[in-house]
Amino acid sequence: MISTIDQIPQSLKRVVVRLDLNLPMVDGVIQDPSRLLKSLPTLRDLLAKGHTLTILAHLGRPKGMDMSLSLKPICDRLAQEMGQYIAFIPSPSTPIPENTPIVMLENLRFFEGEETNNPAFASSLAALGEAYVNDGFSVSHRAHASVEGITHFLPSFGGRLLMKELDALTLSFENPTPPIMVILGGSKISTKIDLLKSLMKKATYLVPGGGIANTFLKAQGYSMGTSLVEIDKITLAQEVMEMAHQRGCTLILPQDVVCETSKGIETVEVDHIPEDGNALDLGPKTLTSIVNILPQIKTVLWNGPLGYFERPPFDQSSLTLAKAIGKGTQSEGLISIAGGGETLGMLDQAGVTQDFTYISTAGGAFLEYLEGKTLPGIQRLIIN
Ligand code: ADP
Ligand code: MG
Repeated sequence: MISTIDQIPQSLKRVVVRLDLNLPMVDGVIQDPSRLLKSLPTLRDLLAKGHTLTILAHLGRPKGMDMSLSLKPICDRLAQEMGQYIAFIPSPSTPIPENTPIVMLENLRFFEGEETNNPAFASSLAALGEAYVNDGFSVSHRAHASVEGITHFLPSFGGRLLMKELDALTLSFENPTPPIMVILGGSKISTKIDLLKSLMKKATYLVPGGGIANTFLKAQGYSMGTSLVEIDKITLAQEVMEMAHQRGCTLILPQDVVCETSKGIETVEVDHIPEDGNALDLGPKTLTSIVNILPQIKTVLWNGPLGYFERPPFDQSSLTLAKAIGKGTQSEGLISIAGGGETLGMLDQAGVTQDFTYISTAGGAFLEYLEGKTLPGIQRLIIN
């Protein structure tokens, strides 16, 4: 078990806390404060335990000191939510004003050593406190100075939000209740090879969607018209089909697809995709087969939309399946876990974000966790 903020010795007064405060901003105005609000419990609990805080976070992808990506507006908002003053320091070498309960450092990515995980920079961050807390699960796949480097200099603990995300993932993923349906959609199989191989080990049913399904169909010999297919990944798709067969994992390949053609939109059987057809969604027959299996499923893991959901009507299969899973979770005790960049937007569009058991907002960290990788930001937290 990872040690949490409850295990930080009282004698270690100032705690350096890494947060994910990478909020969506337009012209310095916060568009959605959710991540900031989710970070409050750790900060409040640490203060209540008598610690003082140094907060570390990044914003965007600045090249050098780009003041349009300053953390100052986020610092102001945080101070407002915490109901107390936060001293904002422009660099780790700025002396910390005495008797200041909360200090926040400027955007970490303004400094050269952050993304290169420079030990000297990590050490300068470590000098801002006596213990370290990682509460940014979503940045934990990055071996950056504030995530990994710093753990070499300070005793390191897991924050509330990080523990919550980790607990949900462990519970649902380390020992998932079978039968398990893995839904893997999105555009390219090439970005998801490790994920596919890792999830295959767990899956009772594997449902490919989106461009990934297209590549499987091509591997089965169907003509795919102008659809998104990764020709150089056909052998991989064949290997996966073979692996699935050997493991007794049932692959649910599309029977029909919704195509855009020069004449308009057509739903066709997979052996009738026209030459000018671009398969942009799974068809209704395929959807029915998937939905019909759901009642016997205990756990669903989902990453990647089933179609080009940004352009209706190619959102239909994703939305229908999302609603069916949401309903199964609410009324049949189905365990449903989902995550990924576009997947979040799709689930939001389906209106099911409250209905799933757990939706990870951690993007890359979520996917790397599912791939079975050890995350650099988790690896060196103290184990008890
Ligand atoms: P995530 O970010 O959730 O992991 P991906 O980045 O792998 O998902 O893929 C999402 C993108 O895949 C979406 O923007 C969607 O439009 C696209 N997509 C899904 N199906 C198709 C398809 N059949 N053809 C082209 N693009 C597709
Ligand atoms: Mg994506």
